[in-house]
Amino acid sequence: MKTQNSPKGESATSTSFMGRVRSNQQKLAAALKSHYDFIVCGSGSSGSVVARRLAENPNVSVLLLEAGGHDDTPSVMDASQWPTNIGTERHWQFQAQQNPALNGRSLPLSMGKVLGGGSSVNAMFGLAATRATGISSHPKQGMGRGATNPC
Ligand SMILES: Cc1cc2nc3c(=O)[nH]c(=O)nc-3n(C[C@H](O)[C@H](O)[C@H](O)COP(=O)(O)OP(=O)(O)OC[C@H]3O[C@@H](n4cnc5c(N)ncnc54)[C@H](O)[C@@H]3O)c2cc1C
Repeated sequence: MKTQNSPKGESATSTSFMGRVRSNQQKLAAALKSHYDFIVCGSGSSGSVVARRLAENPNVSVLLLEAGGHDDTPSVMDASQWPTNIGTERHWQFQAQQNPALNGRSLPLSMGKVLGGGSSVNAMFGLAATRATGISSHPKQGMGRGATNPC
């Protein structure tokens, strides 16, 4: 959880929230069942939302599977370090085929391989429409991973 530029008190609250999340994840991972009502593959933004919505029903069991490792690392928790994840085990390192329309170049296809998927390693840039200007592009300053409004 990013602590710089946080409003007063956010750091302590975030730390305690993160502590509860970690402890709950450890508890659930240590007691995996042989059967689940729903298995969600991939813990990116979309998979996490689907799993969370399913888990709102206390009568069903939900397993969220992730191919990558844990997000509890400085290069994920400190959003300003996002580029340092590229080319590591937290990155699938997919490469497109050479494209004649691009002078034979092969472009990298970036994708996160970690708990949280791309949202754990992205640049947190957002596009917001405004009445005056139409669309503006801006980095979400002062926001950390796990904040309430990630891109
Ligand atoms: C480096 C980078 C920078 C970015 N910058 C921005 C930005 O500034 N602004 C913006 O709006 N967007 C940005 N994006 C894009 C944004 O992060 C993604 O669009 C978004 O996270 C996609 O979410 P998703 O849930 O669809 O997929 P993903 O986040 O890709 O989630 C898929 C998950 O599934 C897992 N998975 C795949 N196969 C399996 C399997 N067989 N078993 C288990 N798990 C599996 C993957 O490891 C991954 O965690 C960026 C992305 C990257 C990679």
